Amino acid sequence: MLPGHFQPAEYLAEIEDCRARFGDRLTIRAGMELGEPHLFASRARDVLAVGTFDFVLGSAHYADGLECAWKPAFFRPPLRERYTAYFRQVVALAAAGDFDVLGHLDLIKRDARKFGHPYDGPAPYADLIRTALRSLVERGKGLEINTSPLRMGQPEPCPSLTALRWYRELGGEILTIGSDAHFPADVGADLETALDMAREVGFTRLATFERRQIDWRPI
Ligand SMILES: [Zn+2]
Repeated sequence: MLPGHFQPAEYLAEIEDCRARFGDRLTIRAGMELGEPHLFASRARDVLAVGTFDFVLGSAHYADGLECAWKPAFFRPPLRERYTAYFRQVVALAAAGDFDVLGHLDLIKRDARKFGHPYDGPAPYADLIRTALRSLVERGKGLEINTSPLRMGQPEPCPSLTALRWYRELGGEILTIGSDAHFPADVGADLETALDMAREVGFTRLATFERRQIDWRPI
């Protein structure tokens, strides 16, 4: 058994069970979000070796130095230094690590706003964000539109329209949308908003993944 709360063999067995029960009505894919896979490469490899996964998100939840970036204590002044430290981690993640699509590019803004702090991005962090996006394009990795901030009453998903446009301008083509649901009722929330954003920036298709290979869907 692997350490930690997530047990991949049991997860994949439950996926198989669900496919047996609902496969005639639902397409059920085995997805995975790896946190900081560039820093925990061997553990990520161990998890992915357990079975067949369809889709792997790679995400940053910690600033560089591995300071937890989603707890209230992180958001102390000067905030710009904290946000910069988070985006440095995103740059490192985008440049390395085994994943298909980078999740919630600017998660830091969601948690800042959740705790009542201002977020001044993306412009002050453009160099870092664009460096990360360029790495994704060069490595053939994708970007996620994550709608979770919208159901917290926030004005935009992760990433912002501006950062999504930067990705497109840099040649980014691989785009997925996700609701980051932690509860069944949130599955698929606000996907229409994400679709509208994608179309506004010029995307004409989304990527879906099966066995970690892209299957394009027109939008
Ligand atoms: Zn995450």
